[in-house]
Amino acid sequence: MSYTNRDENSNTPNESFKVIRKCSVCGKKSIFVNSNKFRVNANGNRIDIWLIYQCRKCKHTYNLTIYERLKKDTLSLELYTSFMENDETLAREYGTDKSIFVKNKAVIDMSSKGGR
Ligand SMILES: [Zn+2]
Repeated sequence: MSYTNRDENSNTPNESFKVIRKCSVCGKKSIFVNSNKFRVNANGNRIDIWLIYQCRKCKHTYNLTIYERLKKDTLSLELYTSFMENDETLAREYGTDKSIFVKNKAVIDMSSKGGR
């Protein structure tokens, strides 16, 4: 992975954050990457939505909570559909949203994200 920060002009939200956490399958700390897939679980009129991360080595999954017990009617049908269809743009959007990681107490792998 050679990612240089040369092109500072482009304002693209580039790569999703990677997460460092202990993988129960690998038995040690591993890097988890965004699978660009969501998991949606509807329970009555409440919805839980996760962004699925995967261990880079063994593909063991780790669900990053995006919404918890969200009232179904606060979510637009459009957004709901995007989650259901694993919209990649949306997955990248959440994968680059630091607040999601803070909320999940996930450790972001800073070494893979040049600068900041
Ligand atoms: Zn693993």
